Amino acid sequence: MQEKLICCQHCGRRIQSRDDLITTLYLWSVVPYHTRCFSHALKGCQAVIVGNHPINSTLSGVMSGLSLLLAPLAVLASDIPSIAGIILLAVPGMRLYSWLAYGRHLD
Ligand SMILES: [Zn+2]
Repeated sequence: MQEKLICCQHCGRRIQSRDDLITTLYLWSVVPYHTRCFSHALKGCQAVIVGNHPINSTLSGVMSGLSLLLAPLAVLASDIPSIAGIILLAVPGMRLYSWLAYGRHLD
């Protein structure tokens, strides 16, 4: 399998390590940043469209776990089960996409 090149959305340089990877929302897409570049993007004009919560953080992992636990309850308890389920599964879905698209290709 060929190694996938992961480039930072801010500087365009290759991201070498998973420790240096931040994934976040940029408008409606999940994009990768260097840890340093993410903070620069938040300070600059891009802060309007860059999500200020990393998707691949520990907090996001905890929130994904809670969402997966609460989604079946929300579907059963809600009058509009499909909407509640979709909203609760969005967080773990984005985290899974982040790992599949970027995280698993880095050491
Ligand atoms: Zn960068």
